[in-house]
Amino acid sequence: MSTNDALFARAQQVIPGGVNSPVRAFRAVGGTPRFIQRAQGSAMWDAEGRRYIDYIGSWGPMILGHGHPAVVEAVSRAVSEGFSFGAPTEREIELAEAIIGLVPSVEQVRLVSSGTEAGMSALRLARGATGRSKIIKFEGCYHGHADALLVKAGSGLATFGHPTSAGVPPEVVQHTLVLEYNHVGQLEEAFASHGKDIACVMVEPIAGNMNFVRSSVPFMTRLRELCTQHGALLVFDEVMTGFRVALGGAQSVYARLIPGFQPDMSVFGKVIGGGMPLAAFGGSKAVMSQLAPLGPVYQAGTLSGNPVATACGLATLKEIAKPGFFESLSAKTTALVQGLTQVAQDAGVPFCGDSQGGMFGFFFHPTLPQNYATVMATDKDRFNRFFHGMLNRGVYLAPALYEAGFVSAAHSDEDIALTLDAARHALRD
Ligand SMILES: *Cc1c(COP(=O)(O)O)cnc(C)c1O
Repeated sequence: MSTNDALFARAQQVIPGGVNSPVRAFRAVGGTPRFIQRAQGSAMWDAEGRRYIDYIGSWGPMILGHGHPAVVEAVSRAVSEGFSFGAPTEREIELAEAIIGLVPSVEQVRLVSSGTEAGMSALRLARGATGRSKIIKFEGCYHGHADALLVKAGSGLATFGHPTSAGVPPEVVQHTLVLEYNHVGQLEEAFASHGKDIACVMVEPIAGNMNFVRSSVPFMTRLRELCTQHGALLVFDEVMTGFRVALGGAQSVYARLIPGFQPDMSVFGKVIGGGMPLAAFGGSKAVMSQLAPLGPVYQAGTLSGNPVATACGLATLKEIAKPGFFESLSAKTTALVQGLTQVAQDAGVPFCGDSQGGMFGFFFHPTLPQNYATVMATDKDRFNRFFHGMLNRGVYLAPALYEAGFVSAAHSDEDIALTLDAARHALRD
């Protein structure tokens, strides 16, 4: 049987870095990535036959756990009917109706194949619909790898950003303004200087690409006010949070805290595909009608609304919409985070964690960070030791301190107890 080391060496010969998405390479934590052979429920098995309790869930999509029977059945049926037609299908309408039924701010939705594609298309649509060029994003939020969004903050406040990747010409990001997350003052200054030119503000409402950082209510309230006042579209990137932190996404969480709150556009991915390549962006009919073939903003995709992917997404949404689903998922996630907090406290290790629905984060730090710089200043050595300690004990956490974690409906009380037991030992490593 192949070992992880042998597979990694072989992979590196033919795939850059041995992986098809960089964080899988374990560069942040060191060591050899596990090559996964199969998964079922809350567990995954690697090439060496070792079992792991999976808290990544394919980075969010596997909210029901792996191989949920209703999803497997729906996908198997769809596969037997054909892989792809390049023509409209009834299932696309059903999925669009399901999304719209769960997310009141979305009146129309376009299906695509990845979160990157959805974010990139939402951005183009926001610019096309407003006739403006500038956009605001926040340091530490990830919206996929479209050129205009691979940007870090410039040298000073309210200056435009620098590319975070080679191959992105500075001219391409000259319209992207990068601000500190949860910083109301910077937001006000940016709108005061550029308000009439800002097409949209794109934000992860609960940021999962810097571990787990919530937008504060004052920040979100002011963000909504400034967008409305200046005619900029507020775009919620809910690729991670959508159908994951609550049935109605993070926007339903903020709507409970801020009366009448809604974003103008939303971007979805991950859970809506249930593990298949599927994503979406949506908003009001007025905005969405700017898209081709109705309007001047071009967007298209050979595999968009793929019949197998939509079957998988629909079956997944159907399960999570059942009464009590999120109550039960939230209770498990809360038990995990509270348990970890207790274990760390018993070990005298500075620690704090947070969660919403089936998404969680934790930090080796005494208080919850509010922005990217604070996340990156948390104890990295302690995190890396803990990550490997857990992995060696059969618990698969995200391999970087800036990634969120995910609990699925398939995680049992026993899984959580085993995880806490592993943590008790791992904190002594
Ligand atoms: C994962 C993610 C994306 C990118 O989605 P892909 O399907 O990986 O292209 C965009 N935004 C957020 C918030 C994400 O978590």
